Amino acid sequence: MRVFKFGGASVKDANAVKNVVNVLDTTGFSELVIVVSAMGKTTNALEEIVALYVDTDVAYKKNILDLHDFHVDILDALFDSQHYPVFTKVEALFKDLQTMLIRNKSNQYDFIYDQTVSYGELIATTIISEYLNHKGYTNEWIDARDLIKTNQVYRDAEVDWQKTQDCIVTKINKKGLSITQGFIGSDTHNFTTTLGREGSDYTAGIFAYCLGANSVSIWKDVPGVLNADPRVFENTNLLSHISYSEAIELAFYGASVIHPKTIQPLQRKEIPLYVKSFLDPLSAGTSVKKGQPLDPYMPCYIVKKNQILVSLSSLDFSFIVENMISEVFNLLHEYQLKVDLIQNSAISFSVCLDDRFNHFNELLPILKARFKVTYNIGVSLYTVRHFTKDAIDSLEKNKSILLKQITRETYQMVALD
Ligand code: ASP
Repeated sequence: MRVFKFGGASVKDANAVKNVVNVLDTTGFSELVIVVSAMGKTTNALEEIVALYVDTDVAYKKNILDLHDFHVDILDALFDSQHYPVFTKVEALFKDLQTMLIRNKSNQYDFIYDQTVSYGELIATTIISEYLNHKGYTNEWIDARDLIKTNQVYRDAEVDWQKTQDCIVTKINKKGLSITQGFIGSDTHNFTTTLGREGSDYTAGIFAYCLGANSVSIWKDVPGVLNADPRVFENTNLLSHISYSEAIELAFYGASVIHPKTIQPLQRKEIPLYVKSFLDPLSAGTSVKKGQPLDPYMPCYIVKKNQILVSLSSLDFSFIVENMISEVFNLLHEYQLKVDLIQNSAISFSVCLDDRFNHFNELLPILKARFKVTYNIGVSLYTVRHFTKDAIDSLEKNKSILLKQITRETYQMVALD
């Protein structure tokens, strides 16, 4: 059996949804689980709704209406009459969302975030499942929250593999066609959790692992994994073959084409991953498999924008030693700041951080009480895997470089934007 994942761009409007049928006609659709993300920029819109709601700004209600209209426009373009049950189902989901926010008593941001943002995936899968049924592609809509069981770390939940495996194996019909949501799960009290932004790839990896699938295909608006992000670099090239370890490295450094956690479950069972264009389903795209050399072998460029570079030095000129570093790391962990790069000298210690949950401002006074702190917000972290001198020279041109690091395979630089 196979697992497919369709991301936001691949279901961003009615034509994109119609194109899903096109992909299924080309690839076949039996013994298949399809994982779907929220449509287009819905998750961003829901994030804004959460921010307004938490600020007790009633404008959130208007934003829900806009999101409702966006989805109903898509339905109107897919179905020739409003009598199809999908209209009532989508209406009910929007009602649920509104009621949930009115009744909510929690003031925990991350909890409210997960209860709200998950509706993007629930609505998208309802529309796609109903549309496929309508077109004769009989499928079962599965609520991923009944299958993916997690801890209670809202917005960054960790999977309970044993429970998840048991649920997936008992509830998925391996012979049929199932449609489910990416990115969402539930905790032991059945409250909704999410696996982190862009986490639908990871959901596809979890299903594939638990079902022992033959392959996972991620359908994208690019031809596969490229050696650089085409929105940032000119003249990008398609990487036809990469190994699991190369893919993990690329994803870790910030290549947004695959979610970093996706590869681990796949490589444990040696399940191949294909990254392909939903506009050209017959083309080979990129295959990610065990041990295959990077082909074509060339420098791969990754940029992570909006990072924070922090340098800490001791207040009394004492050396920055292991116990201080471990104290810093405990704090970074506690405040959910992801460390991208580390460099230290005798009396100073620098880290480049990804502040995914906007917690840096809470941490800053705590760091300042212990260290002399210098920091730059909004810097970019550039990484070049398999660098060459030419690649570095052209990248460094006209940049204000704050920090550089070179290892055997990887060059990294933090620069002001
Ligand atoms: N919809 C979620 C997001 O935009 C999950 C995903 O697309 O993978 O982050």
